[in-house]
Amino acid sequence: MDVAQRVAIVTGGGAGIGGALAARLAREGARVVVADLDADSARAVSEAVNADRPGSTVSAGADVSDTEQIQRLVDLAESAFGPVDLYFANAGIAGAPGLDASEQDWDRSIDVNLRAHIRAAKLLVPGWLERGEGYFVSTASAAGLLTQIGSATYAVTKHAAVSFAEWLSVTYGDRGVRVSCLCPMGVNTKLLYSGEDSGDALGRAATRAVTSAGDVLEPAEVADAVLAAVEDERFLVLPHEDVLDMYRQKGSDYDR
Ligand code: NAD
Repeated sequence: MDVAQRVAIVTGGGAGIGGALAARLAREGARVVVADLDADSARAVSEAVNADRPGSTVSAGADVSDTEQIQRLVDLAESAFGPVDLYFANAGIAGAPGLDASEQDWDRSIDVNLRAHIRAAKLLVPGWLERGEGYFVSTASAAGLLTQIGSATYAVTKHAAVSFAEWLSVTYGDRGVRVSCLCPMGVNTKLLYSGEDSGDALGRAATRAVTSAGDVLEPAEVADAVLAAVEDERFLVLPHEDVLDMYRQKGSDYDR
């Protein structure tokens, strides 16, 4: 899909990968709703992008664990720019590292890293099926493909996010609904270093496992890889060569 003139929503757009995605989309001529739990950071990203590309973005505070707040993002996109063509389910949290993760830790991670994707798809896919096109981009993680040391809540919810993206793709792909699923290893954002900062041994090990596995990518590099994948309509996006190698070693056919 050529994203020029298309309407996109990017969740978790106030920082890291989401901020870079919003900027890259706007540079390609898309119109973007930059959404984040932290409304101020979403506004800051939107203003910075608009300084280069006036009028290309609007921002909103939204918690993706609430269906009504996602619906408000869809309404905002429609009133500001028109029907949503692309949805970037990118907001994510690191969660809690070990078996001592509480019920609340599990609920929050499942809500943000998985159910938020399901909520958005339920809102958008029926309209995309009527129009015969739409694009859902899931930010999962290498942790959704490889079993690596680290956060239990993160690994489990990211595996499920990959699975949901794949299910969407195989179920609706032949009716115009495109799906890509992004699975990076280490990206230089606050989230990557949250394990290191947590003071928890497993959390620290999770960060170190990732940072020692290969180069840590910059968010802009990841955004470039995602945009290339969207243009080629590729399902799984693995911007980190090391991830691809590790996955190939596991005998996977996921390098399509
Ligand atoms: P980040 O912490 O820089 O950005 C995440 C953003 O999501 C933050 O701005 C945060 O406020 C927002 N957010 C959190 N909960 C939210 C909610 N309930 N509703 C709306 N927004 C919410 O981290 P990032 O690395 O840019 O993370 C983006 C995505 O990339 C996440 O899904 C993460 O799991 C994934 N990812 C990151 C890495 C990495 O190494 N950084 C690797 C693989 C996957």
